[in-house]
Amino acid sequence: MKTKPIAKPRILVVGSSNTDMIIKLDRIPQPGETILGGEFVTAAGGKGANQAVAAARAGGDVTFIARVGRDMFGEKAVTGFVQDGIHAQYVTRDPAAPSGVALIFVAKDGENSIAVASGANGLLSTADVKNAKRCIAGARAVVMQLETPQATVQAAAELACRAKVPVILNPAPARKLPGKLLMLVSILTPNETEAELLTGIAVRNEESAVRAAEALLARGVATVIITLGARGAFVAAASTRELIPGFQVKPVDTTGAGDVFNGALAVALGEGRTLIEAVRFANAAAAISVTRLGAQPSAPARNEIEALLASPGAFAPALSPDDGWGVGGPGVQAISLGGFGLPMETTAGEKP
Ligand code: ADP
Repeated sequence: MKTKPIAKPRILVVGSSNTDMIIKLDRIPQPGETILGGEFVTAAGGKGANQAVAAARAGGDVTFIARVGRDMFGEKAVTGFVQDGIHAQYVTRDPAAPSGVALIFVAKDGENSIAVASGANGLLSTADVKNAKRCIAGARAVVMQLETPQATVQAAAELACRAKVPVILNPAPARKLPGKLLMLVSILTPNETEAELLTGIAVRNEESAVRAAEALLARGVATVIITLGARGAFVAAASTRELIPGFQVKPVDTTGAGDVFNGALAVALGEGRTLIEAVRFANAAAAISVTRLGAQPSAPARNEIEALLASPGAFAPALSPDDGWGVGGPGVQAISLGGFGLPMETTAGEKP
């Protein structure tokens, strides 16, 4: 019997697109110094674009709202989106501003020094998101970060909430956020540093992760997922406090791990998986990405994520459980987002 193919969930990503220009050197140049002998590479980047690409490869039907310049960087970025099957009709070419670029020095010892010129990203406007209002209303999730103006993020969150579309906000780069935005967020996904900046609570172990997550829940966020690098992710929702362990992999480059996590998370939730299952899916996608160089180039395809999820021992904790972090196991409390709409509803609450 043939199984009916599952429709790809529509995911809308609002955010930045950059071109990363990387020079690998023996060491980072001092002010006024010139160092020869570097190796130059370019890579598509920007948190928004990274998350859009990750979501598309993970199985989403992705539309991206962004702004690039009318230059070769912008053209190349859009060509890349189309190659990944991303709908790019809302990627506006700004008539005046250049495309966003990041100039990155990477030293032999792994140290880096980065300068970003946001260019057109800084001009992504509330009008840009309002133009895509219908598309926002038809999405299973709206995914955003903080590399574009906060007023634009706010406007998109308001449109999404009005249409009852869940908002996933990755609060990166770290920035303090107003209550009027947090109260519109269905899922907030800070890493440890971002969680600390938002709450003033240093996330060092499970106890502090609980406190930080609860502080964010108290500010109106429906669900908090603190990503914990190799440890995985800590999930806090109405009645859930759960550490979902990461996958044991050999890391090569962790750049963009959080972006891959967010893109994959949106797809899994859009497909109707429970919150806990979706976080496992996102952990798997992000773990694969850290085994490869770069941000966008490292985002895995759907079949790779499924292969990792299916492999024996796939849910082994990445670190030992006696380092202050409990380890989630079977019998976790699953929360269904009720068709990924709000409000959330607990579907299984048994503990072993
Ligand atoms: P960011 O990249 O935003 O700093 P994290 O470092 O917390 O975020 O990583 C995001 C996710 O990527 C983690 O929750 C985890 O799923 C995965 N991840 C990151 N580093 C590793 C690693 N070394 N091994 C396995 N998974 C990892």
